[in-house]
Amino acid sequence: MQRIFTEGLPRESLERCYNVPMTGMYIHLPFCAKKCHYCDFVISTSKTTDSKRSFLEAFEKEAKHHAPGLKNRIFETLYLGGGTPSVLNENEITRVFEILRHFFKFKKNAEITLEVNPGDVTPAKARLYRELGANRISLGAQSFNDATLKRINRAHDAKATLDSFRILKSAGFKNINLDLILSLPLETLSEVERSLKVLLSLKPQHVSLYELTVEEKTVFGRLNRQGKLKLPPEEAQLEMLTLARGTLKKNGFEHYELLNYAKPGFRSRHNLLYWANQEYLGLGPGAFSYLEGRRFRHSSSVEEYLKKSAKEDWSAFEEETLTFEKKETESFLLALRLTEGVPVKNFKKWIQKHKSEIYLLEEKGLLEIRVSRIKLTSQGQLFSETVFSELSG
Ligand code: SF4
Repeated sequence: MQRIFTEGLPRESLERCYNVPMTGMYIHLPFCAKKCHYCDFVISTSKTTDSKRSFLEAFEKEAKHHAPGLKNRIFETLYLGGGTPSVLNENEITRVFEILRHFFKFKKNAEITLEVNPGDVTPAKARLYRELGANRISLGAQSFNDATLKRINRAHDAKATLDSFRILKSAGFKNINLDLILSLPLETLSEVERSLKVLLSLKPQHVSLYELTVEEKTVFGRLNRQGKLKLPPEEAQLEMLTLARGTLKKNGFEHYELLNYAKPGFRSRHNLLYWANQEYLGLGPGAFSYLEGRRFRHSSSVEEYLKKSAKEDWSAFEEETLTFEKKETESFLLALRLTEGVPVKNFKKWIQKHKSEIYLLEEKGLLEIRVSRIKLTSQGQLFSETVFSELSG
């Protein structure tokens, strides 16, 4: 999931992303304590030491396979996601970093993010994360309401999030993101208001604000098909999003991307790299890589990953080579996610080709066209999926 922009450095600009080739790295560590009802990620809830040992062996083989082709690259960002990296014990997470540092080179000031779930962190683990080089934490709060957390099958309560945040802060982390999901079953506007209040009291540097998406192959997908999923009405969902956006902005957060808010100087370099359509290596069972115009992944499940690695079979399970046109379209749409919008000078030909759709979206009040930039209006941010689908044809 994927940025020269560190704490204290000047605000990021798209031009800078385009002028400096960067490579990021995403590591998919697939273990979770239990499966959340909305989750359709590739995960394993196995708790045995053996399954983690087998995974680490496969992971080492995969890293070894990719290392020769990437020996000249220096990675700008490293993002360890999942799954839940914090489910790994101290020896296991240390081994992950040993493998990475053995096979790859990272920039001295690389942004290294570790996803952590509330309740997994101890003071010793938090100190170890710092020693291993992590300088950014993403903590999956999701909600600060215990009844909601239970309803979505999270493995923690709100107190665990507060405790984990304090432990991480005491260990010296100065760049912590909190994830929050809106529009959860039976959620109300006042509940979102309370969650935001608690979130702000923690003073995180970054907030990722998601809206619940009901995926087919999840518990919520099944309940939805059965007509048993009680989501807040659409109007209330819009109110929740508007309230959350307004509250974060009022409290000094820059809304720099559709779902992301940062205090000045704390934008996620890894994600900026994705939105600038730069290259990245993905390692782990569900991770996509995007290298030399080719997007691919080796497997779609933990079992398949283990089987393929035992045979040293690193063929692609899924792959796509991007044509110039497709890459341009993707780059435009990714850049449009950023609040500052798309720099016109970088996309002159593409814009010429799609001018009728662009003008139509402007007429509908979803796009704002300026001499040097095209950006989503606030209405366009609320209905971004419509904009993306109109422009991706
Ligand atoms: S913790 Fe994250 S990856 Fe694990 S089940 Fe929940 S949503 Fe999925």
